[in-house]
Amino acid sequence: MDLGLKGRVAIVAAASKGLGRAVAEEFAKEGCEVAICARTAADLELAAGEIGKATGRTIFWRALDVTKPDAVHTFVEEVDKKYGRVDICVTNAGGPPAKTFLEISLEDWRAAVELTLLSNVYFAREVLPRMQRNRWGRLITLTSVSVKQPIDGLLLSNSLRAGVTGLAKTLANEFGADGITVNNVGPGFTLTDRLEELVDKRAKDAGVGREQMIKNMSAQVPAGRLGRPDELAALVTFLASERASYINGTTIQVDGGLVKGLL
Ligand code: NAP
Repeated sequence: MDLGLKGRVAIVAAASKGLGRAVAEEFAKEGCEVAICARTAADLELAAGEIGKATGRTIFWRALDVTKPDAVHTFVEEVDKKYGRVDICVTNAGGPPAKTFLEISLEDWRAAVELTLLSNVYFAREVLPRMQRNRWGRLITLTSVSVKQPIDGLLLSNSLRAGVTGLAKTLANEFGADGITVNNVGPGFTLTDRLEELVDKRAKDAGVGREQMIKNMSAQVPAGRLGRPDELAALVTFLASERASYINGTTIQVDGGLVKGLL
């Protein structure tokens, strides 16, 4: 299948590691111009170099914090100036801390609103008017299976990602007539640094070793194993493609069957 992604300009946020990085690599393989960001310059430089080596493409990168609207503005403007447009944007950020209600301070709540909800708004504000001018665009928010089935111990994620889903669905309605699709992708348990942290915390809380905890988590998944970042990236790449032109306003999980609901 020709995905029609060659030459498309794609921004992937929080992409020096994990899911974002896997998406950036898949886009580069499809021939997109790829721009990535994260906070740590050294990790970005490494990721851009490795993706460049694997795909033969030059990856544009900038170190910035996605909770800073001015930094997001400057980044998107730079990408637009360099490549002449922005076609695709995948919003993403680090996960909020894994805490229960009584452990969460008001400061934690405010920081998580910035990180998990508003970072999506900052990117959407920058990229949607640009996509609207070209009458083509793909905005994809990366959230979690928690938008369909809350995950124990991840109260901040469970609460705020629901807001991102509401945002994505409403943007899909508002911008659909402009040739722009907005979809949300929910990863299940996928092997990245973030998941390693969650595994360690759960293993400590349960008083078991990390290998045992990975077995316990895998047993919850009908596929019987944890996911790989490239499995998530495959769906994101399809949603970003020409071929996904009539998929709009959806939330699709990539979770090996973890979510037990019908939809
Ligand atoms: P990861 O492997 O820890 O990677 C996180 C990436 O985000 C890194 O590149 C990190 O680089 C960047 N980042 C973090 N905070 C940032 C900020 N404020 N501004 C800019 N970049 C930032 O995590 P992941 O597993 O890919 O997870 C990505 C998202 O998916 C998280 O929100 C996570 O909660 C969610 N998720 C993951 C899973 C899973 O199983 N992996 C499942 C459901 C949901 P710097 O630290 O240098 O900024």
